[in-house]
Amino acid sequence: KVLRKGKAYFWWIHQLRIGAIDEYNNRFPYYDSSSAETKYFSSRARALIKDESGNSTLLVGIIEHETVSAELYEQAKTDSLTGLSNRREFDSQLDFLIKLAKRESRHVSLIMCDVDHFKQYNDLLGHYAGDECLIQIARSISDICVRSSNIACRYGGEEFSVIMYGGDNDASFLAESIRKAIYTLGISHPALNDLPVTLSIGYHSMLPDSESTPRKLIEYADMALYEAKRNGRNTCVQFKVP
Ligand code: GH3
Ligand code: MG
Ligand code: MG
Repeated sequence: KVLRKGKAYFWWIHQLRIGAIDEYNNRFPYYDSSSAETKYFSSRARALIKDESGNSTLLVGIIEHETVSAELYEQAKTDSLTGLSNRREFDSQLDFLIKLAKRESRHVSLIMCDVDHFKQYNDLLGHYAGDECLIQIARSISDICVRSSNIACRYGGEEFSVIMYGGDNDASFLAESIRKAIYTLGISHPALNDLPVTLSIGYHSMLPDSESTPRKLIEYADMALYEAKRNGRNTCVQFKVP
């Protein structure tokens, strides 16, 4: 495990050297057996001078100890209402996984889910019931995303997202499983004759190249989600290149 971390670290340094990135930031845990404590370190490195071919000839790096407890470290990554990864963790994971996928020639998929007619649910039942509904939905999504290659997040408000690493053909299966699971929960929606609360889902898979960015992946999944809303909600739509 340590070896793998070391390899990942040197990969970043290599990326700096060849001028692929200008700056590198990372936080990593380290178990200190003498104090039986997990400590957190942040490492930063920056390329200062580049030669004519774009290679960095001078790198500056710092590793510093952070006085963050394991509990706080976890809290900083977690959405307090649902217990899913929060937006900050989503951003950092998506960025990391797209870079990793470029290196390993793997797919990355993004599934964006939005609760249908949630404003009316809140308006009729109150915010407390709305929160309860979000907790139940999050639990269902989390139960489905058991693989470590699937990261379930609360993207914001009543929007959830799943980042999926590898297995491009599984994204539609996973999206459809989530849609069905939420419908099957059967949380009755007072504005829809007590029909179940549903999700609209948009998703996109990419085999990242040098042009790929998290922003593009989010944008494409979002466009598909918009299409799912237009198609009448409670449905999954895959992004199609126009
Ligand atoms: P659509 O089907 O088009 O998505 O309609 P919608 O009503 O779900 O969409 P809209 O964006 O109009 O409303 C989203 C609502 O979600 C508004 C806001 O009150 C509610 N909401 C967002 N975050 C939370 C939250 O943390 N708790 C509660 N209770 N409600 C939330
Ligand atoms: Mg929304
Ligand atoms: Mg909504």
